[in-house]
Formats: sequence, structure tokens, C-alpha cells
Amino acid sequence: MIRFKSKHLYQIPAFTVLLACTLFSCKQSPPPASSGSQPEDTASTYVPSFNADSAYDYIAKQVAFGPRVPGTKANLACAVYLETTLRSHMPDVMVQKAVVRAYDNTLLNIRNIIGMFHPERSDRILLCAHWDTRHIADHDPDPDMRKNPILGANDGGSGTGVLLEIARQLALDDPGIGVDIVLFDAEDYGQPEDALPQKEDTWCLGSQYWSKNPHKPGYKARFGILLDMVGAKNATFPKEEYSVYYAPGIVSMVWETASRLGYGAFFPDRLGGAVTDDHYYVNTILRIPTINIIHQDMSGAKPFFEHWHTVKDNMESIDPLTLEAVGNTVLMVLHQQKKKTL
Ligand SMILES: [Zn+2]
Repeated sequence: MIRFKSKHLYQIPAFTVLLACTLFSCKQSPPPASSGSQPEDTASTYVPSFNADSAYDYIAKQVAFGPRVPGTKANLACAVYLETTLRSHMPDVMVQKAVVRAYDNTLLNIRNIIGMFHPERSDRILLCAHWDTRHIADHDPDPDMRKNPILGANDGGSGTGVLLEIARQLALDDPGIGVDIVLFDAEDYGQPEDALPQKEDTWCLGSQYWSKNPHKPGYKARFGILLDMVGAKNATFPKEEYSVYYAPGIVSMVWETASRLGYGAFFPDRLGGAVTDDHYYVNTILRIPTINIIHQDMSGAKPFFEHWHTVKDNMESIDPLTLEAVGNTVLMVLHQQKKKTL
């Protein structure tokens, strides 16, 4: 039985639901993607050495700015920190600035921060995460807290922290392919789920803008991986449903890689809900097959991790073991791509 739960509103079209139901109720293996699948023995000599303490520190540094709500001083200061840190690992970094309109008509100055590892290489992989944090803790159990912005250690900080550490690792051990790290702003400024009337496409404003206006005209990547809420203790990343629909072969490859590395408990071979997240727009606008590694609660008690969109999404939410599982898996995936290009 497929559960539909969403970080944001369920926007999965009916035909998508039907297709996904068919795939999974029959227990069929998803068909291989046109690219990305790898024989088991590739990159067999590579041992990923993602440093979880370093990633943890990158998250703590972001959280120390306070809530990074688009348009605030903390957001601006953190953007400078992210740009500087990325640039310390790869020389080609750019900041894409834009003004977008939020669901409440607020005009937001946003910054997508883009690091290009070996931009001259035509064969590229996209890695992305959002770095902003939600302006309201609208899922806090305490009603008095719900108007406060969140610190977003896990929701915003963790994916970005993992990608900063991956950037550091790329500089130490070149996987032999091009990699773009795109940090999206304004993912989390969406309309509350219970507000009426519901408007379309109010979440993921940074990735919507980038997908319509990529940093390079005609930008292409072989596939993409989005990280969101990848830091909680004992996190579980079931196979998110849009990912399975748009990039089934990439999902298989990534989950198999995680299992081979001993991270099967984090990456269960189960279907999760469909989440309207940045990868949805990268898939539907830019047509780059992109998956989402996102924490969904396997018990169904909550949609995501325990402190999602609450004021308790702080550093206590972050466990280095989870960061390491995700970071090593993504690094291994990158290094597995190298031999495909020979
Ligand atoms: Zn969020």
C-alpha cells in the first residue's frame, strides 16, 4: 500500500500514482535507467572516506547564523559563508541571484549557490540540496512557537553540510567526472498545508527559478541527486516516489550502492511517499532525472523526522553516523561513474 505523504502538498498526478502502484505491487525491479547503472565491480578499489565530523561542523556553522530565512541578514551572511567555503574546495563558484514572489506576495531576494567541479568536463552529475530554512515552525506541537522561524539543522543544514564535505572530498580524490553542486534557496517558504485556498508551486522557489534559468544555457547532467533531511539519528530513506517515477535506474543504483557499503538500514528497499521537493522541478522543468534522498518516517506516525518544521530542528537532531552513510554512498556513486566514460 502506498502511503501518500508530503513534505508539502501531494501534487502527484494520477497517472504517476498508477504507474508507481503497478511497479511496486508486482514487486518488479524498476527498469534500468538509460544511464547511471553500474556493474558491481566498478570502482572496486575506491573506498569512500567521507568525514562526518567535518560535515557536522559545516552544519553547525550554518546553524550558528540562526534561521536562514530568505531575505534576512542571517540568510545573506550564510550565503557568503557557503560561497566562500565552496570556493575553498573548487575554484568555479557562482551565485545566482533572483527575486521571486512567495505565496503571501512577499518578494524574496534569493541566492542559489553553485559550485562547478571541472566545468570543462561534459559528462556531469548534479548534486543538490536546499540551504534556506522555513520562516515558520508551523508543525511545532506548541502553538505559541508556530510563528517562529526554524533553525533547520536537519531541514536545510544537513544536505548542504554533506555537500560541502563532498566538495572537500572531490578536491582530495577526483572521481574523474564533472560534478555540479547546487544549493537552492527558498525551498521552504511554501504555503502552509492547511491554508486555503491552496496555491500551486509555492515551495521550491529557488529550484524552480534555477530549472527555468540554469546557470549555463542548455545545462545538462547525466543525473541528479537531491539530499534533504539527511542528518537525523537512525534516519530512514525509503525510495521516494517521484524519484522512482522519473529516475528508477538511479534509485536502484544508489540504494544498491548503499546496501553494498553496509548502509541498508538507512536505505531500506521500500517505497516511500511522493514529496514535492526540489527534484520535482528539476525533473519536470529541466528534465534531468533526479532522485531525492529524504528522511521519511517508516512507522507512519510522522511524515518526516521527529522535529520537522518545529523549533527543535537544532543540532541535537544531527547524528554523524547518518551523515556518514549518506556521504559515503554519494561519494561511492560518483566514483562508480568514472569507468563509464572510458
Ligand atoms: Zn522543510
